[in-house]
Amino acid sequence: MTSTQVRATCPHDCPDTCALLVTVKDGVATEVKGDPDHPTTAGVLCTKVARYTERTYHEERLLHPMKRVGKKGEGKFERISWDEALDTIASRLKGIAARDPQAILPYSYCGTMGLVQGESMSLRFFHQLGASHLDRTICASAGATGYKYTVGASIGTDMEQFQNAKLIIIWGGNPIASNLHFWMRAQEAKRRGAKLIAIDPYRSLTAEKCHQHIAVLPGTDSAFALGLMHVLIRENLLDHDYIEHYTLGFDELKERAAEWTPERTAETCGITADEVVKLAREYGQAAVKGEAAAIRVNYGVQRVRGGGMAVRAIACLPALVGAWRNPAGGVQLSSSGSFPTNKPKLQRPDLLAGRHARTINMTTIGDDLLKESSPEFGPKVGKRSSVYKRPTGRHRARFRQGDARLRARGFVTPWCSKPFRPTTARPMPTSAAGHHHPARTRRHAHLLRPPVHDGQ
Ligand code: SF4
Repeated sequence: MTSTQVRATCPHDCPDTCALLVTVKDGVATEVKGDPDHPTTAGVLCTKVARYTERTYHEERLLHPMKRVGKKGEGKFERISWDEALDTIASRLKGIAARDPQAILPYSYCGTMGLVQGESMSLRFFHQLGASHLDRTICASAGATGYKYTVGASIGTDMEQFQNAKLIIIWGGNPIASNLHFWMRAQEAKRRGAKLIAIDPYRSLTAEKCHQHIAVLPGTDSAFALGLMHVLIRENLLDHDYIEHYTLGFDELKERAAEWTPERTAETCGITADEVVKLAREYGQAAVKGEAAAIRVNYGVQRVRGGGMAVRAIACLPALVGAWRNPAGGVQLSSSGSFPTNKPKLQRPDLLAGRHARTINMTTIGDDLLKESSPEFGPKVGKRSSVYKRPTGRHRARFRQGDARLRARGFVTPWCSKPFRPTTARPMPTSAAGHHHPARTRRHAHLLRPPVHDGQ
């Protein structure tokens, strides 16, 4: 039995983009570890990926196409052949495409990432078909847009610098659960004497472990940021030189912030005026002293009405106090997409060959699925090809209505419709990874034989 250790990359949609060391014996992964030489990973993986081999080779892992034979939700399926699955899918898609391919809607988000697998090959297929486009806005578009409006690009404080900060504000995130390698740096900063403050309506595990938790009401983050600006401006805790040379619009911002007294902010946010004043002073004074004040804002704040503006307001704070002057200061939302990729080359929109394909936005899909055909909307959506992530709430209820869905999953769930096929998700599909960490674009490796169960 030959055994080798190879380098790979975590395929998940996660800001850390960890480097993996995978032990492979005869095409089977036996161990997955974090690469100690990769600065971000530093030898540590989150628990879900540290146990990836268990998932990949789990006895319940779906390895062949299944067809629902009971009622939806009953969880009754029978195995079918690949030929039957592919013929069934093809005949359904062909029937709809013959009438109008735009009635087919690929519905997907980020499961297994990678530049090739992530959003490339499937789009080539749907472009060839002439299917509707999906505008993938459900997760991060509002905040990403707000951030770019303010900072100019999807780039911010380097995660590896946070350990040098003296004040870290964790705004709308729970990094213990979802940004482990940032949390490691925050812990190191804490050991070196930094203060950690969580701003979150929810007392998460992260909030519990910070020195202070400010529990603003949901959706009031813009108001809180404006209240902080009000105090910074009123008490002249500003870096005037930075504002003059590197910012635009200070006078208008000052006018707007003047409306947000600590008292008004406190009433809007459900906190005390003292919390507003104290945090503004701590933040401003840290920068005045030349200490690094860093904000890790996360997507939680922007999943509400006005969320894009909330990120814009928060992203103004480091510019006011000149926190960007220190490599460990500033703000970070996400570095996703900060290095351009040639998407047309990957996704091949040219395969549409001059046909028009309408775009349906994820955030309105619940209503769009109920729309009848019309000249404005186009054909009623007759088929959803649902991959990776499923909708929730009312959207999920509407997905349940109507005809069959095609799903790709790693494990059987009662919600699956018919027919569906197993995903190829495994630690290292052949691809390149550059989704999140801009400084460390990496390559996925093709290492493993597909998992097999006895007798299959
Ligand atoms: S922390 Fe993120 S990138 Fe690292 S192994 Fe876990 S999911 Fe993958």
